[in-house]
Amino acid sequence: MACGAMVSRGGAVLLGCTTSADGYYRGRPVRVVTHAHRDHLLGIERSVRESVIIVANPYTLEMMEVLGYRVPPEKAAPLPYRASLEYDGERITLVEARHIAGSSQVLLETSQGSYGYTSDFKMPGTPPLKGLDVLVIDATYGDPALQRRWGEWDAIAALIEIIERFIREGPVWVYGYHGKLQEVMAQLRVRGVGYHFLADPITLRLAEIASRFYNVPLDPVGMFQGEEVYDSIVIFLHSTRFSSYRRRPGVHVRLTGWEMRAPAALAGNRVINVSFSDHATLREIVEYLDDARPRLVLVDAYRGRSAMLTARYLERTLGLKVLPSPPHGF
Ligand SMILES: [Zn+2]
Repeated sequence: MACGAMVSRGGAVLLGCTTSADGYYRGRPVRVVTHAHRDHLLGIERSVRESVIIVANPYTLEMMEVLGYRVPPEKAAPLPYRASLEYDGERITLVEARHIAGSSQVLLETSQGSYGYTSDFKMPGTPPLKGLDVLVIDATYGDPALQRRWGEWDAIAALIEIIERFIREGPVWVYGYHGKLQEVMAQLRVRGVGYHFLADPITLRLAEIASRFYNVPLDPVGMFQGEEVYDSIVIFLHSTRFSSYRRRPGVHVRLTGWEMRAPAALAGNRVINVSFSDHATLREIVEYLDDARPRLVLVDAYRGRSAMLTARYLERTLGLKVLPSPPHGF
């Protein structure tokens, strides 16, 4: 392909001539990982074999190691926020994105143009990359029908209410994805929730990293390995554990951005969904782009389900040129 910006059919975000972000692409010497979520680690083993360097925020590299992704030290290029590195005349900079610990936006500047990729983000807390030639944007919740009518503060308040109401009747179980669980643990501590936390081994190791990233102590926190637990404890488990533990005594809370009924909604016997999302709503995407004003916006159609709809909506609302990429989804 020509050197510019696009999303490949395999989900790689190609920037400039050298760089492939969040997916493998043949012949690209630089692989960027924006954060340690699986849909952004596509083909990482091949990239580790074939690329010259793997660029990521230092916290992301630490989290990848916990999740079992091996990057040899001679290939790892830890890049703190706002620091840059140059490869073949192209300058790569990682900029903070509020999503999970270590999440980054990518800025790539060449003599031919300037290109950016937001990756997953939410607002506020993600500084827009301004005035670029091409910006690739994440639009996981780009469908207007998925516009939540409340903020994440309402979701956290609902979770605190659930904890306070049920914690003396048994443990409160909280299920979510990597990154989101750790963010919620930190937010609960910031809001003064002091109960003992337990977490499965990987969630706990990621929490130690996130605690440094957010600069929020999570103590008292310990490891949960399936033992019997009593009241006044909040247990954090990866979403995949829900079916194994949902019949245990206590109240079971699932953190999910797809709950559209209310900040908290009943989802079964002693099961409550809390509508906590780590992705921008369509309104937040508009807010970001209105500030960023790139010459061309590409909506990531590999990860967004309604990229064509999102592109048309953004074009009408903002008067920017917006296209889905790849052009026909995948
Ligand atoms: Zn993500």
